[in-house]
Amino acid sequence: MPESKDPYAKLRAPSPTPLEDLCKCTDSPPIILVAHLSSCPLACMRCIREVSPEAIGFPAPLADELASWQKFHDCFYLLWLDSGEFKEWARDQLLALTSPVNRRGMQAAVELNEHHPAFYGWFQEGVDTPATTCPACGSPLTKLDSRTVCSPCLIVVGA
Ligand SMILES: [Zn+2]
Ligand SMILES: [Zn+2]
Repeated sequence: MPESKDPYAKLRAPSPTPLEDLCKCTDSPPIILVAHLSSCPLACMRCIREVSPEAIGFPAPLADELASWQKFHDCFYLLWLDSGEFKEWARDQLLALTSPVNRRGMQAAVELNEHHPAFYGWFQEGVDTPATTCPACGSPLTKLDSRTVCSPCLIVVGA
């Protein structure tokens, strides 16, 4: 049965990321730590597709840290998507420089950098008013691989 015809699709275990949704860039562009409700929070800076962890290679404790950050982040992200009672609170958490979700994420991005150039994907609520300054240091953002970044802070805004 095709998945789109399955009325219970959302109640099933997620299937692995399809091959066509994985990054195939051959020159190792930087990666972005960004949670999009998938099980692997690593995306290619250039093609924005998912990067498999074995394509980078890092120790198991860092894999555990990335997985728990991903789940932690999804809690806020889902409350924001839910648009209910906690939307504003969740958005504030996702936007605040010193919120636990951003502190833990930025720390994980720093650790990822020991294995591959990596940036932290900063939440942006809409595309109507793109950020022009870094949420961490306030410097003007620049372009890298068509993404809007602060290189010293290892942040990509609106990834
Ligand atoms: Zn790619
Ligand atoms: Zn900065």
